[in-house]
Amino acid sequence: MYHSMKQINMGVIICRHCSSLVDTVDTNKIAVFYGVCDKPECRQLHKAGEGSVRSADAP
Ligand SMILES: [Zn+2]
Repeated sequence: MYHSMKQINMGVIICRHCSSLVDTVDTNKIAVFYGVCDKPECRQLHKAGEGSVRSADAP
């Protein structure tokens, strides 16, 4: 095991609309979170689909 790597962001936040990388977070394991990026179209989609359309999100 190497300890030379100081900080590893193993959690990623992916835009649920365009699948672009939004941010990274520090987690203890590899994890993917879904959010919304800053693109205007994605913001609009997020508003439009709020509470009505749900994809198969893992619990
Ligand atoms: Zn997006």
